[in-house]
Amino acid sequence: VWRDVLVVARREFGEKAVEQWLDQVTLASVTRDLATLEAPTRFLADWIERNFGQALVRMIGQADPAVRRVQVTVRERAPRREPSAPVEMFTPAPETERGLNSAPLDPRFTFDSFVVGKPNELAHAAARRVAECPDASFNPVFLHGGVGLGKTHLMHAIAAHLQASRPGVKVLYLSAEQFMYRFIQALRFRDTITFKEQFRSVDVLMVDDVQFIAGKDSTQEEFFHTFNALIDQKKQIVISGDSSPDRIEGIEERIRSRLQWGLVVDIHPADYELRLGILHSKAERIMATHPEIVLDPKVLEMLAHRINSNVRVLEGALTRLVAFASLVGRRIDLDMAQECLADLLRAAERKVTIEEIKRRVADHYNLRLSDLVSARRARAVARPRQVAMYLAKNLTSKSLPEIGRGFGGRDHTTVIHAVKKIEALRESDSQLSEDVELLRRMLEA
Ligand code: ADP
Ligand code: MG
Repeated sequence: VWRDVLVVARREFGEKAVEQWLDQVTLASVTRDLATLEAPTRFLADWIERNFGQALVRMIGQADPAVRRVQVTVRERAPRREPSAPVEMFTPAPETERGLNSAPLDPRFTFDSFVVGKPNELAHAAARRVAECPDASFNPVFLHGGVGLGKTHLMHAIAAHLQASRPGVKVLYLSAEQFMYRFIQALRFRDTITFKEQFRSVDVLMVDDVQFIAGKDSTQEEFFHTFNALIDQKKQIVISGDSSPDRIEGIEERIRSRLQWGLVVDIHPADYELRLGILHSKAERIMATHPEIVLDPKVLEMLAHRINSNVRVLEGALTRLVAFASLVGRRIDLDMAQECLADLLRAAERKVTIEEIKRRVADHYNLRLSDLVSARRARAVARPRQVAMYLAKNLTSKSLPEIGRGFGGRDHTTVIHAVKKIEALRESDSQLSEDVELLRRMLEA
């Protein structure tokens, strides 16, 4: 069976990928619907399960239709310190009294593992506050930000903290999609009463990715009622979304305004410092459990510098490096990293250019391109220029002097000043903050 799978995999993923990852793996057993694969290291097991898991279910399923799940375990070699347990990603959350399950929490998403920096400090503080004291004094708490910036991480951290510190408190965490799914199930089984009772009996309700219910009318309706019932009972609600309440499209006005009632905090994209901080923290964790991995600190700087999309991509890069290193027994240095991550780095390079930024910003503020590079100091020109420099600093990997040159030969201290200014304004000026966010999204799209 495995041979056949490899043949298909070669066709689908290419020779190189199979050689790098799957050739090291063997199919150990199939028990009912579960196929167990074995990999030589935990990292490889983790990597394969994450990146090829779905595809492998499909491929093995072709040979053996009973197979519905795949797990990758670490192959037993000499006795190890750690028993080679299956790579368990999730632990199911305890059931609440009335049989209403929280979605599983990822045990890695805790406050301990969350790195705080300027872009996420408010969101982090708000999350900590509800985790320690879910007294509905801010209700709802609404966390929003782009993809891969740590919303789900914070939501899980809150839920896990509450479950551990207040076992009597009923915490229900789920995605808006799961909310809809359960609601539809209830409709199908004509059991909406139980559904309502269950949802109204929780102490803390957490709904992730609320934008999902946009445009889904009956689900929105039900969500609205659940929401109101809980607010009336002074039960804590925490919600996340991919943009601020006033920017989520296809959502009813009354829900929009309810979402704005409480505390609305946004997570900004990670800046260089935060990216580096996150990488350091992850690397430390990896090296604590895998002393054989040697990582040149320069590699982390290179990654933080060059990969400026979201944290998930950053993590993926590190995981891949470590998997590769543990596979070939090589030290992770700059050369190795460039080689192993060539595709990722190239994709990151292709990102945004200063020219595009200037064009977008000029359009947005109704200016001419030449205004942005001119010496004019009028606020109507100077502010957008600062916005453009700020975006250039955050979205490109250009150095400060390079950015200065892109804006009519300005000095790098002018660029620093612009970046600081916009950072400060984003805290106090919500209109500006939204303009910046909008521009960033358009540029990254
Ligand atoms: P979102 O829900 O906003 O799309 P996630 O919470 O899923 O993003 O985060 C994506 C990945 O990035 C997760 O693995 C998460 O642990 C990691 N991550 C994001 N922000 C941080 C941070 N500040 N510190 C540590 N890890 C982070
Ligand atoms: Mg998420």
